[in-house]
Amino acid sequence: MALGPQQPPSFGTAVPLKTGGSRAALTAQQMVARVAELRSVHAAFAWFRAHARELEDVQLEVTAIPAPPWGEAARSHWLKSRFEALGLSEVHQDEMGNVFAILPGTDASAPCMALSAHLDTVFPAGTAITVSREANKLYGPGISDNGSGITALLAIAGALRESAIANTAPILLIGNVGEEGEGNLRGMRHIFQQPRWLESIGALVALDGAGTDTIIAEGLGSRRYEITVRGPGGHSWSDFGTANPIVVLARIIDRFSQTTVPSTPKTTFNVGIVQGGTSVNSIPQSATMRVDTRSASVEQLDRLERALREAVKQGTVETRGRKKQEALTVEVQVIGDRPAADLPGDAHLLKVIRAVDAQLNNSSRVQRASTDANIPLSLGREAIAIGAGGSGGGAHTVNEWYDPAGRDLGLKRILLLTLALCGVSDE
Ligand SMILES: [Zn+2]
Repeated sequence: MALGPQQPPSFGTAVPLKTGGSRAALTAQQMVARVAELRSVHAAFAWFRAHARELEDVQLEVTAIPAPPWGEAARSHWLKSRFEALGLSEVHQDEMGNVFAILPGTDASAPCMALSAHLDTVFPAGTAITVSREANKLYGPGISDNGSGITALLAIAGALRESAIANTAPILLIGNVGEEGEGNLRGMRHIFQQPRWLESIGALVALDGAGTDTIIAEGLGSRRYEITVRGPGGHSWSDFGTANPIVVLARIIDRFSQTTVPSTPKTTFNVGIVQGGTSVNSIPQSATMRVDTRSASVEQLDRLERALREAVKQGTVETRGRKKQEALTVEVQVIGDRPAADLPGDAHLLKVIRAVDAQLNNSSRVQRASTDANIPLSLGREAIAIGAGGSGGGAHTVNEWYDPAGRDLGLKRILLLTLALCGVSDE
């Protein structure tokens, strides 16, 4: 399409805050301070306080809807009806199950600011999902990750609808599928493959989990492989000498595990699963392993992939001379691929979130992780992932909890960031 990574739509200073009808170039800090002073923004802050209990109910309700990887349909449907109930524009769902809504801006031609929250959980289909409120805490698998992010998305939409804030650029709200594990970021990947969104999203902020102390501005890349060695198999006594897939796999693992990796950029690999064989007196017909590689740099992921493929080649060559060696096959399958990319240190989005944190006396630091932001970052777009406020624990376990104390700060942070990026017309 016309707009590739070379010419991303960008906020930069192209959509500055309007001050008394004239556009002045304000610093990020001045811009955030002006937004924070607006009466309508104070009304939105009051909305967060007034609806605190209701937001907890929403969070319990969404967490109770199972959303296993590749099974988010019920939750997509739920979010779509929530968006409709709020009277948002262009509420719809795409063929992947991603749900969209728009809060129009006063300048319809401006690139939009996207706020997203992933709908999926790590819990497989059939996991018993029970939610509860005990003392002041909320409990349930996925209550923080990402029950809190989805709740924040709806809180921002609710507060903006009721406080009459005139945002300049449109705000695009997204509930996306496929963030966790096997999901392989497929929801966000699909969104940025659509010309409509690729050309209109100026910046993306993913709301993921609880907290206010981090800014995920560095995307951790990963690539995962499944390697299967197959052979004719046979009897351990009468077919002795036939190439053994488990032995071949062991050689591949031995070779690959000797690969050196740099500490900067941090690069790691892991053989996480090995399976194969039928019985102690059978030469196996197949052996399989799963390998995870991670790095802050795409070059290092490429280098590890070359090392892995070379280990496969060498491990197989060493089997020459064995009986029926020619019947041996090795299949290397990429089962996961998350691109690595960082937000540049001088990015507008980074300046604005830092200004917001200064305004709210919130301390935070930039961190590296694998989130939905990886996709826009890999396309040269400005993107970060931040928490939805409050605190949580037991992530990715059925004992997950969320404490709403401090949610207020998280919601203010998201709102100020959104409005400072979009621009707001003066009252
Ligand atoms: Zn998450």
